[in-house]
Amino acid sequence: MHIPSLSVATLALCSSFIFGDAFAPNYHLSTTSFSAQSTARYATVSRTDAPPTTSVFLSPESAKACVDLVGSPAFAYSLERLRDSADACLAFPNAYGLTVRYAMKACPNAAILKYFNSRGIHIDASSGYEVRRAISAGVPPEKISLSSQELPSDFEEFVKMGVKINACSVSQLDRFGKVFAGTGQKVGIRVNPGVGSGGFSSSTTGFSKTNVGGPSSSFGIWYSLIDDGTVPDMVAKYGLTVERIHTHIGSGSDPEIWQQVATKSLSFCKVWPTVETLNLGGGYKVGRVEGEVTTDLQKIGAPVTDAFRQFAAENGGRQLRLEIEPGTYLVAMSGALVSTIQDKVFTTGPGSHTFLKLDSGMTDVLRPSLYGAIHPMTVFPASGKTEDVGTETEDVVVVGHCCESGDLMTPKPGEPEDLAERTLRKAEIGDMLVIDGSGAYCAGMSAKNYNSFPEAPEVLLDLDGKPHIIRKRQTLDQVFQNEVDTDLF
Ligand SMILES: *Cc1c(COP(=O)(O)O)cnc(C)c1O
Repeated sequence: MHIPSLSVATLALCSSFIFGDAFAPNYHLSTTSFSAQSTARYATVSRTDAPPTTSVFLSPESAKACVDLVGSPAFAYSLERLRDSADACLAFPNAYGLTVRYAMKACPNAAILKYFNSRGIHIDASSGYEVRRAISAGVPPEKISLSSQELPSDFEEFVKMGVKINACSVSQLDRFGKVFAGTGQKVGIRVNPGVGSGGFSSSTTGFSKTNVGGPSSSFGIWYSLIDDGTVPDMVAKYGLTVERIHTHIGSGSDPEIWQQVATKSLSFCKVWPTVETLNLGGGYKVGRVEGEVTTDLQKIGAPVTDAFRQFAAENGGRQLRLEIEPGTYLVAMSGALVSTIQDKVFTTGPGSHTFLKLDSGMTDVLRPSLYGAIHPMTVFPASGKTEDVGTETEDVVVVGHCCESGDLMTPKPGEPEDLAERTLRKAEIGDMLVIDGSGAYCAGMSAKNYNSFPEAPEVLLDLDGKPHIIRKRQTLDQVFQNEVDTDLF
C-alpha cells in the first residue's frame, strides 16, 4: 500500500480509518481535486492497490441478491448493523435512567420502526404525520414524543392518546396552553440554548444547512425567553406542568461540548421543579468516510452523567432521567443504496472527467447535492461475483440520472456546488455501484419523483445476509395518482 505525502502521525491515524470497520474499506479521495482547506479537514488518501471486494456490509454476491429480489436501484439495510447501533445507544451512560428515542425522520420504514420498538427504543417524531405513521407501525402512543416545526392541528387528540409533546416555540406553547388551560397538563419545552453545531459546520453561531442550535437556527424556544420570564409566565398562566426540557443542537462527538451542553440544559431544568427528564436530542455524528469521526457514546456520555449527578447534589437530590434521540447514529451506516451504472461518458481537455451515470441519484440520496456530503462508494461487477472484481481502478465523477446538473454524487466535501473525482474500481456499463452510509436521511429524504422516477424499494438483510422486501418499488401510477383532470381546456 502506498500513501503519499502523509506524516507518520497522520498515517497512523489514517490507517486506523482505512482498516477500521466503521468505514468502507475502499474509500479513495483523489489528491488532485481538493483545496488546501479541505485537505486539512479530510485526510487525503490515495491507494494504488486493488479495488475492494466488499462495501461496508455488502459483497458482490449479496448486492446482486438484492437486485435479483427487487431490481435496481434498491435500498438495503443490515439487521446486524441496526442491532449493533441499537445496543450502543441503549448502553449510553446515565446517572438516573435512560430513554432512547429513535428520530424516525432518519428512516421511517415500518420495519425499522418495529425493530427498534422491539428493542425498547421509543420514538421522536417531527410531525403529526410521523406520529400517525409510528402508531400504524405498532408503536404505542405513549412511547412517541413530538418535537415539530409545525404543531399539528390534531395535537389535542395526540395528547389524549398519550403522545408527549414538546412545545418548540412560544406560539406552540400558547396554543397548547389555550387547549389545556387549568388542567395541569404535562408538557415539554424545547429550548435553543444559544449554541449548537451541525454535521458540516464547525461554527456554533454561523449558519449551515445542518445547524440546529444557536442564533442562526429557528429550532426551539430562544433561551432568553426562559431567562426573562416570558415562558415561565405563560406556563403559570395556563397552569401547565413542565415535565421535560428538550435541547437538540447537534453537538457532535466532543465530550467537552457535551458537558457544556448538558450543564447549560440542566440550568433550564432548575426553572421548573416539576421537570423529571432532560432530553439532549440527537446529532451523534457518524463517520461515513475516513477523516470523519464516529461519536464514542461512552466517552461523551461520561461527563453528561457527571453533570446529572452534580445537578442532583446541588438541587436537593433531584434525579433527572436522561433521554437521547439519535437518528443518524442508529441507521446511517446500516443502510446502502445498491444501484447500477447505466452509462459512462467522458469529456476531454482542461477540466475534463470520466463520468459514471447511475440509475439512481438525488431521487434517492440527496445529501451530496444538498450538503456536499461524502458517501463511500464501491463498484461491483455485474456478474455479482467476487472473483470478477479485478485489479484496475479509475478516477471518475459519479452522477445521478436526473436531467439536473446538480444531481452530483461526488461533490467536493462540504461543497455541493463543486465536483470531485473518486478512485473506484474500473467500471463498465451494467456494473453495480453501492453507495454506503445511506441509512439515514436518504430513502426518507430525497428529490422524490423528480423526472418521474419512482421511489426505490427497500430490503432488509437478515442476520444470514439474506434480503427481505420491506417496501416495494413505487409504480408510475402511484407517482401521479393524485392528479385531477381539469375541464379548463
Ligand atoms: C432530527 C432530530 C434528531 C436526530 O438527529 P440526528 O442528527 O439524526 O441524530 C433528534 N431530535 C430531534 C428533535 C430532531 O429533529
